[in-house]
Amino acid sequence: MNCTLCGDRAVILIREEQLSLCKQHLIQRILDYSRTVLEMIKPGGTSIRIAVATSGGKDSTVCLHILHSLLEEYTLDIIAIAVDEGIEGFRNIKLHRLKKFAQNLGVDLNVVSFKEFFGASLDEMVKLSLGKGFMYKPCTICGVLRRYLLNKTARELGVEYLATGHNMDDEAQSILMNILKNNIDKIARSAPITAIKHKKFIPRLKPLYYCTEKEVMTYALIQHFEIPVVDCPYLFFNERRILRRWLNKVEYLRPGTKKRLISLKNRISLNSQREPTKRVKLCTKCGEPSSEDICKTCQILEYLEINMDGG
Ligand SMILES: [Zn+2]
Ligand SMILES: [Zn+2]
Repeated sequence: MNCTLCGDRAVILIREEQLSLCKQHLIQRILDYSRTVLEMIKPGGTSIRIAVATSGGKDSTVCLHILHSLLEEYTLDIIAIAVDEGIEGFRNIKLHRLKKFAQNLGVDLNVVSFKEFFGASLDEMVKLSLGKGFMYKPCTICGVLRRYLLNKTARELGVEYLATGHNMDDEAQSILMNILKNNIDKIARSAPITAIKHKKFIPRLKPLYYCTEKEVMTYALIQHFEIPVVDCPYLFFNERRILRRWLNKVEYLRPGTKKRLISLKNRISLNSQREPTKRVKLCTKCGEPSSEDICKTCQILEYLEINMDGG
């Protein structure tokens, strides 16, 4: 298989476009997709301070590497944040590699942990939740608390944007998930840049929004990133995993399905009469931005009977 564009040895076949690309042309494609997103924040000579939310997984590692490659072109000032949820035999292994990766790039990595901030690790929280009827599943606790800590840390580090490694597959899965939950507002809001207009909320930037997971994974392979192959022990409880598998099957049978889902989302956003940004209040308990009187993080901590200030 040879590159459709230059005839060199191809490293990827993009089935929905019947396009084979060599290493250089795949890199070019991913850089161009990321440029499209960066153009949306209109850098104008002054540097833009971005924190990359890193986990040690392939998506956020590629995101960090791509933004670093575009550092001078867009006068970016990049730092990385990693949340250590406290998942024994998983996050510690990923973080160990990530530290070396960030160090090699010369990017400052800030690690914040559940244990230090909330007073308990995710492993401990899952045990507590199990003992109380398991109303909150591991991925819910982890996702809510991680986003909370990322936003707060990014804000304290004075960044303008928080970049995440979300790719097109993630977006397509989210669209499907929100269709199943009848959550049209959430579908309409999903975009490469999401800004909930509130000074305490750091806008999200998704440089890999237009790249498929296959493209991101191939990029990680050809760049020889050493990503530890360990699965999260709580993966079993993740609902998204079922949709992911199903969507990949459908994509295989009908190439371009994921891209059509993104187009569908764009049409929903255009036709949506609703206010695209949701109302933000401040949590009455902790003062962080929230859509309800008491934020989801405080609700979860209350259920688990964990006191954020002092354990
Ligand atoms: Zn080529
Ligand atoms: Zn709160």
